[in-house]
Amino acid sequence: MKRAISVDKVIKGLACRLHVKVGVIAVQGDVSEHVTASERAMAELGLKGSAVYVRTPEDMNGVDRLIIPGGESTTISKLLLKSGLFELIRRRAEEGMPVMGTCAGCILMAKKGDDQVEKTHTRLLGLMNMKVDRNFYGRQRESFEAKLKIDGVSESFRGVFIRAPAILEVWGRCVPLSRLGNEIVMAREDNLLGLAFHPELSGSTEVHSLFLRI
Ligand code: GLN
Repeated sequence: MKRAISVDKVIKGLACRLHVKVGVIAVQGDVSEHVTASERAMAELGLKGSAVYVRTPEDMNGVDRLIIPGGESTTISKLLLKSGLFELIRRRAEEGMPVMGTCAGCILMAKKGDDQVEKTHTRLLGLMNMKVDRNFYGRQRESFEAKLKIDGVSESFRGVFIRAPAILEVWGRCVPLSRLGNEIVMAREDNLLGLAFHPELSGSTEVHSLFLRI
């Protein structure tokens, strides 16, 4: 005898079996807010999982998606190289692990940086086809907020910019998801997200929720 399977039941069953483990790079910068936002987004999506601090390659065990937070891109880059995380992140991202870089993290995701990145000899992870200007908004305004339209995420997202970079150019498979004036402030390339602002300080889980759904 045939048994009717409820689609709802199947989806619920799959969601229960998924156990996500978000890693948040914790060598420097604002970290705990990303852990909190990730855990809130998981709860809202009905996903089981946890968010953990990543300081060493061993901390990456079991991590299936990674956030590189804001801070100082020069320092974070050096500490990633020193800890042995740099090449590991590159390899895992190229294998398809979702990675979200915010602010300084966004700078590190880029293939190309501005003069300052070059002068400071900052090694970028170089994962996304984009060019960033490291202190684009930093020089002018240091910190400010702006309402952002983010494709597929929000019509009005509270964007918090702190000495923020801008994405000057994207190419290849990298597409803009949000703009502020002429500049791109959020982009996606397959499993990778780069954001010039701080979604973890917005009070909303919409961006973390998108990241968890990649
Ligand atoms: N402009 C900073 C840098 O170059 C990033 C600022 C931030 O992450 N809030 O690293």
